[in-house]
Amino acid sequence: MINILTIDVEDYFHVLGLSSVIKKSEWEDCPQRVYGNTLRLLDILEASGVKATFYVLGWVAERRPELVDEMLRRGHEIASHGYSHAPIYEQTREEFHADLVRSKEILEGISGCKVIGYRAPSFSITERTLWALDVLIEEGFEYDSSIYPIRYDRYGISSAERFPHLIHRGKRSIWEFPPSTLRFLGRNLPVAGGGYFRLYPYRITAGFIRRMNRKGYPVLVYLHPWEIDPAQPRFKPRFRDRFRHYVNLSKTEGKLIRLLKEFRFAGISHFIKCMGGGSLR
Ligand SMILES: [Zn+2]
Repeated sequence: MINILTIDVEDYFHVLGLSSVIKKSEWEDCPQRVYGNTLRLLDILEASGVKATFYVLGWVAERRPELVDEMLRRGHEIASHGYSHAPIYEQTREEFHADLVRSKEILEGISGCKVIGYRAPSFSITERTLWALDVLIEEGFEYDSSIYPIRYDRYGISSAERFPHLIHRGKRSIWEFPPSTLRFLGRNLPVAGGGYFRLYPYRITAGFIRRMNRKGYPVLVYLHPWEIDPAQPRFKPRFRDRFRHYVNLSKTEGKLIRLLKEFRFAGISHFIKCMGGGSLR
């Protein structure tokens, strides 16, 4: 069973949980760590022979186009994480459209490849912003990975489908690749990405993946370059955001290396090719 590995390429100061302590106007003055951290991630993946989908923030690609080149050179897939990292529910449809097109043009300009995949900042396609799927389809996107099937303060649609599937919008459709969840006591629990991956001991994550794979389902894991960087500058947002951002940063790289040794992974296009017109379920 091949699982899905996705990386959201952004820096620590882009994270919504730190927005109370780092303003957008201060981003340019923050020490940038994304270049070194992404190169380290690329080396880790290369050592394990793993290819992934990289959702690259337009803001980062514009300043470090050589990172996009390096991802392509090593055989990874480039997708969009938008331009400005503003959550969709804080944008109008027009603003979202402009942000999306700006990121797509930057990434296509660097890579020379058509960008067909998207992940919203902070998984911000929620019940209120499902219209964003129509904008993605209009702009030629073929898959999305922005709907987290959980109930959470900043994102999530708890009733959403848990496995990769086709979403129909009128006569058109788009593939959705949700981050993986564990069904427990009638609720969906996030287990295999970002802060959840950092929080849970390795054996919990690995046990979950084994269980899902035995049932015939691939697991979608997502990570960020800043999550393998315990030396990043530290800030003090409210406790909840501080915990989410900084928990176990020093352990993530080791956990990831173990994960890549134990399980097989690929990027999203690999799955779309395998699925044809059907669904993985
Ligand atoms: Zn992000």
